Amino acid sequence: MAWNYNDPREYLRLVRTGEFPPLIISVALTGGIHGKEVNPNLPETPDEQAQQAYEAYKAGASIAHIHARDPKKGYASPSVDPEDYRRVNKKIRELCPDIIINNTTGGGLGLTTEERIKSLEADPEIASLNMGPLAWRAFLKKREPPISGRPDDVLMDSVWPPTFSWKETELFAQRMLEKNIKPELEVYHQGQFQLVYNLLEKNLIRHPLLIQFVMGPPSAVLPTPQNLMSMLYHVPLNSIVSVIGIWPHQLPISTIAIAMGLHVRIGLEDNIFYQKGELAKSNAQLVERVVRIAKEIDRPIATPAQAREMLGLPKEPKKY
Ligand code: ZN
Repeated sequence: MAWNYNDPREYLRLVRTGEFPPLIISVALTGGIHGKEVNPNLPETPDEQAQQAYEAYKAGASIAHIHARDPKKGYASPSVDPEDYRRVNKKIRELCPDIIINNTTGGGLGLTTEERIKSLEADPEIASLNMGPLAWRAFLKKREPPISGRPDDVLMDSVWPPTFSWKETELFAQRMLEKNIKPELEVYHQGQFQLVYNLLEKNLIRHPLLIQFVMGPPSAVLPTPQNLMSMLYHVPLNSIVSVIGIWPHQLPISTIAIAMGLHVRIGLEDNIFYQKGELAKSNAQLVERVVRIAKEIDRPIATPAQAREMLGLPKEPKKY
């Protein structure tokens, strides 16, 4: 199901025969940075995340990307307790019997390596793995009642630390191999492919690779069509590529990706708006739109079973 994105003859054949692989839609429910203070429809608690995962699953999402939030901090900040991840995973599994469970190891801003790797103890089927450092800046608004956890505005201005070595990407990849968790390699710009190649050379990741282009965050690749092409040029053979466009770029980048035979991640972690000036009502609303776009251009939507097969995951969903 993976194809050579850099072979024009293969692209032509896939368009001609209508054999692009079904579209895998990953829904990023909540994230670990902004929250209800910018969109009250963004799910934070385990119950809210499970309900929105269910609606997104019904709409066509086959992967749920999850950040557990810390109940002791009013759900304003990311949790570093595997129990919190287990709770969300379990509730989502109860409502969505075969959706693919993806837990972040990025967590949120300002967390240590030791804190971020803890989510793996909740035994997700996929876990995100950030492929290198970024300079990150975020303005976090204060949270006023009925929500809590951040009494004042906060400007986060830091360097996000993933490194090559046993301090970070190799360590995370090794742990995922041991626990039979598939890494989703989050690549933020072309230079980070050096970390992907390093993991391949050390045999710490297995084909088919799952590569997520993250286009648009601070100091990441700019979310333009030209850069999407350039990112693809660096992808190793036998990879499944999915694409994220951040904020207003979610819609154009995902639309282009769908037409190109790639896969997409959408959701309120990456974009809180439905359209300019209009907040999204739910994650499902964003999923429904990409499903409509895909159907209009004759691209089928992957079921969770098809997504499992394409990604080389076990047929049987993990239980929680
Ligand atoms: Zn995330």
